[in-house]
Amino acid sequence: MGKNKKQYKKIGIMGGTFNPIHIGHLVTAEEALSQFKLDIVIFIPTGDPPHKIENDTASAEDRYIMAVIATSSNSSFFVSRMEIDRKGKSYTIDTVRQLKEIYGRDSLLYFITGADAILEILTWKDTSEIVSLCKFIAATRPGYDLSRIDDLRKRLFGNINAAEKKIYIMEIPALSISSTDIRGRIRNERPIDYLLPEGVSKYILKNELYKK
Ligand code: NAP
Repeated sequence: MGKNKKQYKKIGIMGGTFNPIHIGHLVTAEEALSQFKLDIVIFIPTGDPPHKIENDTASAEDRYIMAVIATSSNSSFFVSRMEIDRKGKSYTIDTVRQLKEIYGRDSLLYFITGADAILEILTWKDTSEIVSLCKFIAATRPGYDLSRIDDLRKRLFGNINAAEKKIYIMEIPALSISSTDIRGRIRNERPIDYLLPEGVSKYILKNELYKK
């Protein structure tokens, strides 16, 4: 990242399993960069997710490499190994604390992830500290029931007007693409072209990911 990291003040954190990363994720990051005037977006693939065990999750290393391939041509996108290199279980609170140290206490962090994941934040470790340290951008597919986000805002903050400034909703039509669908297509030998960057589909084919 050429510059002194403390010069970046508005930082998007793309949290996700990225199993695999696809065009919907890239459109989400680009839209957040533009709408929220972020300096950079850092993709942070999960390591050993504390909350789920799935047998069709590619290794953290493969998911990291695919994220690097997908973002390499965008000068505002970076990928961090922070969560995949962390020993033991990895929690978002640890990531957010670490980023605050790197970018400075006055940095503004925007945690960008799928709305379904954000709806679960009351079950995450140290929810109230996370909410005090960063804002959230909930990326949704069109047709998503937004009342569930309103309910979450009420539960977290009580006052809905104040809450709106903490959890933003961003509707992304390209999120009708999903990692689950892509994995299913690979298993069933159906095409995946144009759903993810070409380099990522080639990496999946070369390494025979998601075949069973
Ligand atoms: P997930 O189950 O993989 O994804 C949930 C939904 O959100 C899926 O529809 C997914 O679509 C979409 N999604 C995931 N990441 C996205 C992104 N960055 N932009 C747009 N859509 C996205 O959720 P997850 O990846 O496990 O968790 C998301 C984030 O929450 C991670 O950073 C994780 O570490 C964090 N988290 C933390 C805790 C904790 O600290 N205790 C607990 C749970 C989650 P696709 O399948 O197409 O990606």
